[in-house]
Amino acid sequence: MPEPKTKDAPALEKDDSKSVSLQSKGEINTRLVRSLIFQQGPISRVEISNITQMSLATLTAICAELLESGVVLETDALHPSDNNRGRRRRPLRINSENLGCISMVCEPGCIDVAVVDLNGDIRWHQTFEVEFEVEPYQICLRSALAAALAASPIETSKLLEIGVAVPDITKLPDRPAKVDSHAGIWAEIEPGETVKGVAPLPVFVDKIESLMAIGEMTSGAGQDSQTMLLLSWDNELNGALVDHGRLIRGADSDAAKIGHAWVSDTDTYCSCGLKGCLNIHLASEKIIAQWQAARLAMGDNSERIIEDHRKIIELASEGDGIAAGILAESAELLAQVVGPLANILRIDRIILSADFGAENGPMVHPFYAALRKYVSHSFYRDLEVRSTALGLAGAHKGVVAQTAKWHFAMPNSTA
Ligand SMILES: [Zn+2]
Repeated sequence: MPEPKTKDAPALEKDDSKSVSLQSKGEINTRLVRSLIFQQGPISRVEISNITQMSLATLTAICAELLESGVVLETDALHPSDNNRGRRRRPLRINSENLGCISMVCEPGCIDVAVVDLNGDIRWHQTFEVEFEVEPYQICLRSALAAALAASPIETSKLLEIGVAVPDITKLPDRPAKVDSHAGIWAEIEPGETVKGVAPLPVFVDKIESLMAIGEMTSGAGQDSQTMLLLSWDNELNGALVDHGRLIRGADSDAAKIGHAWVSDTDTYCSCGLKGCLNIHLASEKIIAQWQAARLAMGDNSERIIEDHRKIIELASEGDGIAAGILAESAELLAQVVGPLANILRIDRIILSADFGAENGPMVHPFYAALRKYVSHSFYRDLEVRSTALGLAGAHKGVVAQTAKWHFAMPNSTA
């Protein structure tokens, strides 16, 4: 059953687009013209008329309104169909540099905030260091947003959304918060709720990997791929799947929690209730413990402080053979999980976050090599494994790509 649609709380459609209630036929027509200009612009009024079957008189009024609002621009270029005959038709395009979003990427200890225009260009950016406690984090979220609004080169009325990227939270826009039961402090901070009311703008929350994946597919390492899996490796292994530009979210937006794939039984229970998830096998503590034990066995008991698995990757890059061996085993386990998935979903690009180290480094290279054992040979030939090209900027660009998709979606016939 479709949810009731109201202007304040647009329902989220299964196709990952927001639909808004449309008050009148006029509103539907305006939205249709705007969407056409976004998807096919620069486009002339005559071409829009041919596609929509609207009269030129109706169209002229709608276009005047869109030009007046600053959403659309007339271009100076002669349209190719003009053939230099008659008067210039002045095709229309979306005023992309004049419209944008605020993107806030929440991480433990810092909030990365950007103003991004609809071209995906980051027009203002600042990182705010913050204590990872509920109240200071909430205060910092609000002041970071206020700073972005004050400094924004795009006026507030031309900002379409505030997108908040959060780890470990599964929440779809305009749905009640569905917080991962293991999200801990993020569930208490409620970043989306916290920034609501700071500006008269809609706010949406999504997980960092999802937004990074959309950004990478739009303008990063995922370009030209069809079905892409992005993986991150922090406290847990997480991911996002994008198929032909569209996120595969799964029930409750929980898809691609790759770390909860079962590998082999361990003595420890995973937070999900299973025993032997990839998360347990690839936990930083476990990798560090293996490394320490192997060193001791070799007679090396000198004290070394290792923070997490990234340090082991660094050591392996510097020629530490023990570290390289442990990473090769980890890469094998990862390939055991990802390989069958790549086969089933016919993934043609795997993008690894910076947590995995360099593209030809001691984790990524053995991972790619190990995949050969688990992926059909014809698929393996097409499968590329790359590192993220954009880093956090990918999430900022993802916020804009997601927003553009919603705001310029064709009007929904059921609305
Ligand atoms: Zn698990």
